[in-house]
Amino acid sequence: MRGEYKVVSCPNCGHLQITFAERYFVCRGCGRKNSISSKCVLYKSEDHGDAREVLLSLKMKGCSSPNNLFKFSRAGDT
Ligand SMILES: [Zn+2]
Repeated sequence: MRGEYKVVSCPNCGHLQITFAERYFVCRGCGRKNSISSKCVLYKSEDHGDAREVLLSLKMKGCSSPNNLFKFSRAGDT
């Protein structure tokens, strides 16, 4: 049995994060429990690094302070 990492966007506050859950995720931005629907799933992958790259690129686009996120993107590179 295997699952997929999903890049999800919180419908309440727009926070982007990765979840491995199948049905619900709890937003780290506002704490709301959201059901995972195709509407809020932006990307799916079995590979965590792959999902993370997408998450970071999405955050880069929408974030006003990319320096903070750039630090993240470098942290786990091999
Ligand atoms: Zn939220």
